[in-house]
Amino acid sequence: MTDATPGTVRLRETLESIPRYVAGKPATEQPGRTTYKISSNENPYPPLPSVLDVVREAMQTMNRYPDIGTVALREAIADRFDVDPDQVATGTGSVGLLGTLLQITSGPGDEVVHAWRSFEAYPIVVGLSGATGVPVPLTGDARHDLSAMADAVTDRTRLIIVCTPNNPTGPAVRQDELEAFLARVPSDVLVVIDEAYLEFNRDPEAADALAVWRSRPNVAVLRTFSKAYGLAGLRVGYCIAHEQVASALRTAAVPFGVSHVAQQAAIASLAAYDELDERVRALVAERDRLLIGLRDLGFEVPDTQANFVWLPLGDRTPEFAAAAEAAGVVVRPFAGDGVRCSVGEVEATDRLLEVAHSWSGAGGA
Ligand SMILES: *Cc1c(COP(=O)(O)O)cnc(C)c1O
Repeated sequence: MTDATPGTVRLRETLESIPRYVAGKPATEQPGRTTYKISSNENPYPPLPSVLDVVREAMQTMNRYPDIGTVALREAIADRFDVDPDQVATGTGSVGLLGTLLQITSGPGDEVVHAWRSFEAYPIVVGLSGATGVPVPLTGDARHDLSAMADAVTDRTRLIIVCTPNNPTGPAVRQDELEAFLARVPSDVLVVIDEAYLEFNRDPEAADALAVWRSRPNVAVLRTFSKAYGLAGLRVGYCIAHEQVASALRTAAVPFGVSHVAQQAAIASLAAYDELDERVRALVAERDRLLIGLRDLGFEVPDTQANFVWLPLGDRTPEFAAAAEAAGVVVRPFAGDGVRCSVGEVEATDRLLEVAHSWSGAGGA
């Protein structure tokens, strides 16, 4: 007879300390009006017709496994960014690649330096690897404190993650500060530059991560098709790295992780980038309207180079999130810290500005 009690198998202890990924809430339905989800930094535009056509075609063969080597996609990426296909690895979103980056660099006893607050997936992937996360607080203006991050590097550091523009706060890392930082990092420590929001970045002083990568063997650039390219639901991202790292990423990748549909959609999206870029430009304009509107209302909003704005509301975070939800816009609260609002439909921006207006009228801002 079996008398197994639930929950008695031995799992890795590290699981106990791993925070859960809190996904942005979906828009709540309200009678008589459209509600908006601006909680996950998604692209509000529907897929391009040309990309949808390619996806429909690719679905015809979904009884088959995809190309395990993602050769055509890696070639398309290589072609577009003037790198070698051997210097490209793909994954199930850049989050998938982050997990693999941890697997190839870090384990128990090792340290991973990253800014905080930053992308919430970092503590999760670091925790799962068994390595120790070394979160380095942002500066007062919500930027990476790269000199403190360099100070945090020890003999145990195996990986450093730089998120630019930073999710959820918005500012981008500048070229001069990145150069000064990298000059202080030992050449055997991998530095991953997470550029999920690259396409929205308009800071003229922003770091050119790809150019930096070309001259530094210990740098890798992580990018995604989820944001500007609008393929969040298909799960595909890529890493541009020197061959040693790129090859290790391909070795450690989940076999067949990136579906044929995702590979084909990504290739079609690279080809249609001019069309996508029009949307990106519209989103950047909308972002600037939101940022200026909020600042005019007295909110202290840090610079943003991404498709979202950050409201550092501290303890009043849940209150603001509830007010926004009542007005039909679902934002992403980070308890005790602030609210991240993605740039979505024009009507969503209008609604959010109305909420902010009432809030500041009530002495909130
Ligand atoms: C959204 C985001 C990603 C991309 O995630 P995917 O897994 O590619 O969808 C990566 N890094 C940051 C900082 C992000 O905000």
